[in-house]
Amino acid sequence: MSFLIEAYNNISQELAATNTALVAVSKTKPVEDIQQAYNIGVRDFGENYVQELADKQIQLPTDIRWHFIGHLQTNKVKYIAPFVYLIHGVDSEKLLLEINKQGKKLNKRINCLLQIHIAKEETKFGLNEDELFQIIQKYFIEKTITLDFVNIVGLMGMASFTDNKETIQSEFNFLKQLHTSINEQIKNDSFRVLSMGMSGDYPLAIACGSNMVRIGSLLFGERSYHH
Ligand SMILES: *Cc1c(COP(=O)(O)O)cnc(C)c1O
Repeated sequence: MSFLIEAYNNISQELAATNTALVAVSKTKPVEDIQQAYNIGVRDFGENYVQELADKQIQLPTDIRWHFIGHLQTNKVKYIAPFVYLIHGVDSEKLLLEINKQGKKLNKRINCLLQIHIAKEETKFGLNEDELFQIIQKYFIEKTITLDFVNIVGLMGMASFTDNKETIQSEFNFLKQLHTSINEQIKNDSFRVLSMGMSGDYPLAIACGSNMVRIGSLLFGERSYHH
C-alpha cells in the first residue's frame, strides 16, 4: 500500500470519529500526487501560492474544492476568485472588500475565514482580537459594511512553531474561545468553521475544538523546499 493511501486511511478514520473536515495541503507537490489523492476520495485541497494554485486547478478535476491557505495579496484575488471554494487567510478589511468586488463581477459569493494571529512569532499573519471584533461588529452587528458577495464562515489560525504542547494548546483554546464568543454575539448559523491544526498538532487542535484541519506532510510526505 502506498504511503498516501495508508496515511489517508489512518487520518480519515480519526477525523470521521470527530466530524472534522480534512484539507489536504498539496503545496509544492505535483498534480500527479493530487490526482492520486483525488482517486482515493479526497476532494478538498489547500494551496498557498496563487500562481501554483491557478496552474494546478486547470489540470485537475473541476469538482475539487480548492482552499487558499496562504497570505493573499489584494491584487491577486482576481486570479483565484472564479474557482476558489474557501479563502482561509483573510486578514484585513481591505482584502474583504476586494474579495467582495471580485465576487460581484462573477456574481458569486466567496467563502472566507478570518485569520487570527495566535502564535508568538511575528512572522505569521493575522488579525488581532481588536481588529477581529471591529470587522465582526461592522459586518454582522451594525452592518455598516455590506459585503453581498462574501460569506464569512469562520476563523483560521496557526499555532506557534514549537514543541511546547502547552503553548500550542493555549493558542488553540484562545482561538476556540473567540469563535464561541462570536457565535454567541451574532447567532448566525453560517459562522461554523474553525480551521486549526496541521500535521504536527492536529490531534491537539481537534481536542481544542477544531472542525477543519489542514494536513500536508503527513499525507504527501515531507516537502523538499520550505514554503
Ligand atoms: C503548509 C501549511 C499547512 C500544512 O502543513 P503540514 O505541516 O505539512 O501539515 C497547513 N496550513 C498552512 C497555512 C500551511 O501553510
